[in-house]
Amino acid sequence: MADWSTTAAAVSNQLPSMHFIDGEWRRPLSGNLMETFDPGRAEPHAQFAAGTAEDIAEAVAAAKQAESGEWRKATPAERGRILMRAAELIRQNAERLATAEVLDSGKTLAEARGDVRGSARAFEYYAGAADKHEGKAYPLGPDYTSYSIEEPIGVTAHIVPWNYPLSTACRSIAPALAAGCTAVVKPAEQTPMTALLLAEILVQAGLPKGVCNVVTGTGIAAGAPLVSHPDVRHVTFTGSTVTGINVMKAAAQNIASVTLELGGKSPNIVLADADLELALDNVVGAIFENAGQICSAGSRLVIERSIHAEFMERLVKRARGLTIGHGLGEGVNFGAINSAEHLVKVASYVEGAKSRGVNVAAGGNAVVDPATGKGWFFEPTILDDVKWDDPVVQEEIFGPVLAVQIVDGLEEAIEAANCTDYALVAGLFTKDLSKAHRIARDVDAGQFFVNEYFAGGIETPFGGNRRSGIGREKGLLAVASYCKTKAVTIRI
Ligand code: NAD
Repeated sequence: MADWSTTAAAVSNQLPSMHFIDGEWRRPLSGNLMETFDPGRAEPHAQFAAGTAEDIAEAVAAAKQAESGEWRKATPAERGRILMRAAELIRQNAERLATAEVLDSGKTLAEARGDVRGSARAFEYYAGAADKHEGKAYPLGPDYTSYSIEEPIGVTAHIVPWNYPLSTACRSIAPALAAGCTAVVKPAEQTPMTALLLAEILVQAGLPKGVCNVVTGTGIAAGAPLVSHPDVRHVTFTGSTVTGINVMKAAAQNIASVTLELGGKSPNIVLADADLELALDNVVGAIFENAGQICSAGSRLVIERSIHAEFMERLVKRARGLTIGHGLGEGVNFGAINSAEHLVKVASYVEGAKSRGVNVAAGGNAVVDPATGKGWFFEPTILDDVKWDDPVVQEEIFGPVLAVQIVDGLEEAIEAANCTDYALVAGLFTKDLSKAHRIARDVDAGQFFVNEYFAGGIETPFGGNRRSGIGREKGLLAVASYCKTKAVTIRI
């Protein structure tokens, strides 16, 4: 038995198996439970409530009721203080949250600890924003006074994917609460636990009951009734483009607004003049962190021909040097694929590439944790010199698979970067500032990173263009998504 298994069992045994509605644990009305799997062992580790439209109706009713109560009367500064306490409590509960996240998602403990730090930071940041989202005054001349009020939009729905369960939930819940909204959260069915733990922490921080509710269950049984509920006024959805389209259609029936954070196929451009050691560190992190299950992963390397051979040699060595294993295992820096179904999807993309004669420079196989012989893992994989129209260049694999595109010069690098339907993020490595500005101008992306992939924080707006989404999270911009502007004009 692995030496971390006692810690794992202690955390799993204390996880909730109910929804969190109106400030309390509630059994699913269907009476049914589902299992959540530890991807690092490929076995179930806990049970959770299988939510249905009836549970969603209760949660939305609680959120609607909470809108007009204590929460409405709280001053923005009081809301901010609650969010700040939530940040502190997240930090105090960091180890339990991080371990639960490892067990649900398959990521490494170091990655999960980073996610928890980011989650606390989101609450801290929006705590400060709660009393700073101001209205404006409008110049109509001496006979009028005209001003706007930023009112909370109402009940908000938060649909969360499985790759960053806690931090994705926090980055949308925190600004919604800062704006004075109430929330119903539907975490992914693969990773329900940390959202439930968060809801309990928020109440401990002083959030009135009913303001933040969590209903677990599948996308079809619990997610769909939530996003189509007539009392929901804004939906923040993070997930696949295909589901995002359905969510947008459902919200449209109720004229509810949406923020959609969808897929990506982001280019990481390395020019011949780059600091190659720096670029190497970042190319590896951009695609192999979280085993590549990142919407903004740098899943395409766009590299100038003159440095391709040397860079590839070093890159392959780095990829092969990663230590695969259970997220709680000692020295592990490359975790699991989240589910058996997803492992099949990742593997089938690579098998398809092999059958088309694509050069597999590193990895390419599904494997198990060498320490236990269990788990859903896929080797860090590099597919070299791939044609631009190949599915592994055009489609999101959402796994540890890097597709390499070789280019000649700046113009071709820009063309390669823009060659997919996605436009979430892009990275660039160069020492030439004028090339950096030019490429940043011409590459379509919501975020552009120069000389540090994933640079930025909760302060920086985040979102995608085209099939990568609509709207922006993070930064002060996000608070505006959860507000409705009322213009008041008085003839005096
Ligand atoms: P998914 O779309 O299958 O599921 C995401 C969430 O939506 C889950 O909670 C699921 O239960 C729910 N859901 C499914 N069908 C639904 C429906 N009809 N109505 C309402 N909710 C429904 O996505 P996934 O496979 O879990 O996540 C991976 C995808 O998420 C990738 O495409 C990735 O790029 C994307 N993602 C994007 C971002 C971003 O910020 N842009 C961040 C993380 C993940």
